[in-house]
Amino acid sequence: MKANNLNIAELIQFSPGFVGIQGRRLLIHDLLSLGQFRRDLIESVGINNAQRILTRKGLFWGQADCAGMKRLFTWENSVELLKAVPELIKITGMAYAQITELHLDERTGRLIMELKCADSSEVEQHRVEMGKSEFPICWAMAGYLSGYASYCLGREIYFREVQCQGAEMSSCIFIGKDADSWGKELETCLSFFHAADIQRKIESLTECIREQQQKILLHNKQLKAVLKQGEIFGIETRSKAFSNVLDFANKVAQFDTTVLITGETGTGKEVIARQIHAMSVRKKYPFIAINCSALPDSLLENELFGHKAGAFTGAKSNEMGLFEAANKGTIFLDEIGDISLSLQVKLLRVLQSKEIRPVGETHSQVVDFRVISATNRDLDLLVQNGTFREDLLYRLRVLHLALPPLRERQEDILPLARYFLDQFRKKLKIPALRFAPETVDVLTSYSWPGNVRELENALEHAAVLCTDGVITPDILPKAISGRKDSKNSTNVPLSLDEIEKRHIRSILELTSGNRTEAAKILKISESTLYRRLREL
Ligand SMILES: [Zn+2]
Repeated sequence: MKANNLNIAELIQFSPGFVGIQGRRLLIHDLLSLGQFRRDLIESVGINNAQRILTRKGLFWGQADCAGMKRLFTWENSVELLKAVPELIKITGMAYAQITELHLDERTGRLIMELKCADSSEVEQHRVEMGKSEFPICWAMAGYLSGYASYCLGREIYFREVQCQGAEMSSCIFIGKDADSWGKELETCLSFFHAADIQRKIESLTECIREQQQKILLHNKQLKAVLKQGEIFGIETRSKAFSNVLDFANKVAQFDTTVLITGETGTGKEVIARQIHAMSVRKKYPFIAINCSALPDSLLENELFGHKAGAFTGAKSNEMGLFEAANKGTIFLDEIGDISLSLQVKLLRVLQSKEIRPVGETHSQVVDFRVISATNRDLDLLVQNGTFREDLLYRLRVLHLALPPLRERQEDILPLARYFLDQFRKKLKIPALRFAPETVDVLTSYSWPGNVRELENALEHAAVLCTDGVITPDILPKAISGRKDSKNSTNVPLSLDEIEKRHIRSILELTSGNRTEAAKILKISESTLYRRLREL
């Protein structure tokens, strides 16, 4: 058989449910959907892997086509069989193709073949989905030619596309040579012809993703810590008791040792801890805070020390603990008096060795951190009762800072109240927000058992309820304003809105202005509560 005598159209068969060539089944594809598939492939596995996959798809096709041609006809020689390739390319709709050069040295087996193509279906697919390309894109065609020629000659022949219409050239040109003739030049394109070690690749990608996740996690934790640091500093104090505390905190900051901060709930222990961190040599590194009473034992341990993948059900990957996240910085352990004895032992070991061992991990790692802890409980009493370890207490209380309750620093009540009012003016967007003169007396004569936090909550509660921006005593929580509840004795019929307003107000008073708790009692979301308050 000679290529000249070939009429490929005779090899095509059509019957219902079957389209074939040389007796093999073909599948007719829609070009646009192939283009979309191509884009998906590039986006999901990257351009190099997409090129490799499509090149290999072409390679298998070329081999199959050449095998079919060999089976059907007896060819005069290999060159004639090679010459049939443009016809196959045309009939399958891949492109218009023409051989422009063909030298085969039968003795040495060396081949040089050049093929010129136009209207490549791959160029069209690529162009529709991705536009103009900077480099040749007829990957499947290069694979096809390589597969065909290799099968034809019984050795490795590689085709490379050296110019492409997809990259704005006048035509697509493919050059095919045997591996020896290509020499070193082949190295760059060889990987596109070989199957990748997918399993190893998946493993290395998974590892890479895990590393990135860890980096992001650390970055987020540090970012949150840095953001919080700037929030609340700059509160002045007029009271002797509190300025002594601040002076001492300044001194404490310079010594890189553990600090225990004690004081009633709401006295601002975390604020002081942040202040100490911000004035220490560790200020450029994270300040990580955790409330030890907020989590059950096992979760707290996991949160503090991290875990290894597989340490327990659901531990899918290694996770960094807060000690590690606080590396070079400060870790603030709030409500330290509430941790269990077993966790106290682990914490003591960490403080002694400065080494962390994530849950499920066999090796420890050295971490550099400073511990500041806080509690509103009497730790000495807990030691006496046997619920807190004495050796841990000594470790934690190298330096001790006792915060005075707000009632012992009365001079600070008004500056603090004005500071918070300023915050709510911005947060709630009420520019006219201010105190009525009689409110000032009420605020300063109250004992504030819930300390600074109670003051903050009460003012937020009042700011939300006030109608014209003026905070009058009657909208402060009842405990603070000291007024008697006389609303129920009114005989004036109330509207539904008024009843709702009064009910919400009474619940807010019950929770000392804590909106989260109030929303819980009212069984509505916090944002709904907010909206209702604004509407009313
Ligand atoms: Zn091309």
